This record gives sequence, C-alpha cells and structure tokens, in this order.
Amino acid sequence: MAPATTRRQLLRADLHGRRRPVRPPWATPRFHADCTRCDACLPACPEGILVRGDGGFPEVDFRRGECTFCGDCVSACSPKALQRTEPSASPWHHVAHVAPACLEGHGVHCRACADPCPEEVVRFRPGTLNHPPEIDVSGCTGCGACVAPCPVQAVHIGPPTSQEVAA
Ligand code: SF4
Ligand code: SF4
Ligand code: SF4
Repeated sequence: MAPATTRRQLLRADLHGRRRPVRPPWATPRFHADCTRCDACLPACPEGILVRGDGGFPEVDFRRGECTFCGDCVSACSPKALQRTEPSASPWHHVAHVAPACLEGHGVHCRACADPCPEEVVRFRPGTLNHPPEIDVSGCTGCGACVAPCPVQAVHIGPPTSQEVAA
C-alpha cells in the first residue's frame, strides 16, 4: 500500500513526496552535519521565508515570498552551516519548475508567475493557450518570486533536471 500523503507534502503541493526541501542559500555540503538547528537564521531573514522544517532544520517557504539573496541568514549562522566564501559565490543551484497543474496548460489565461520575475525568464508562447510557461533556466536564480502568485501552486523551486543541466 502506498504511504499516506503527509500534511507537509500537501502544503508543498508535493503529493508524491519527491521534492526535497530548499535549505537557506549558501548552505554548505556539510549543512546537515554542521547545522545545530539553533533557529538563528529564521528571524534574521527580512523576507520571513525561512521556517523550521522536518527534523528542525531550516528550509525556505516560497509561499511566504522570495529570497533577495541579502545574506542576512548567513551572517546569523555561527556554526557556519551557511557560508558565503566569496561575494560572487552562488547561493544555490535551484531553478523554477512548472507542474502540469498550470492553468495556462489547461486553456485558462493566467500568467501570474511572469510579472514578479525580476530576471524576466518566464516565457509564454505568443498568442497561445494550452502551453505552460517555459523557464529560461540559464537566467533563473531560483529566487522563488514566481511561486506565491500562482493560484494553483504549480510552480516549485528545486535543482535543475538533467536535461536542463545538459542544455
Ligand atoms: S539571503 Fe536574505 S532573503 Fe534570502 S533567505 Fe537569507 S536572509 Fe532571507
Ligand atoms: S543559523 Fe545556521 S546552525 Fe542555526 S538553524 Fe540556521 S543554518 Fe542551522
Ligand atoms: S525563480 Fe525567480 S528568476 Fe526564476 S523564474 Fe521564478 S521569479 Fe524568475
């Protein structure tokens, strides 16, 4: 029998439980070993997007807003589970993904995810319905500004697919 869907999966619109939580930006490869679950990064975030997740580890809740990559969470992390080794260090390797629930893919005009995108990488085919947007992942920062405006929770943030990595 398939395992029951958890409340957390429902909140993430992740009915199959495949999505991994997004850790705060600049999480190191040793994040789970070094994070003491002290919660110091949560109130440090001016956007209020960091929440206590499974096991007490912090994760990003993009339904609350976007990451501005200000780095305040990194500054608050004494155990150095978050580290920005140099100013140009990439915060993470996440991009936006659009699920089949997208209204545009079902012939309903929406496009709510496009306007908030600061990088202007949410693209729709001109004059067409029945096509979800395409994300130009080469310019997507994974900031998550496109997540909360979606009325059907069709947008999520996560690692690029193997096809996107190869492109
Ligand atoms: S970089 Fe800034 S906006 Fe992003 S999660 Fe950290 S504190 Fe919040
Ligand atoms: S401040 Fe650092 S150690 Fe504390 S919960 Fe956040 S990531 Fe973990
Ligand atoms: S995650 Fe940010 S940069 Fe990427 S498509 Fe969404 S709003 Fe644009």
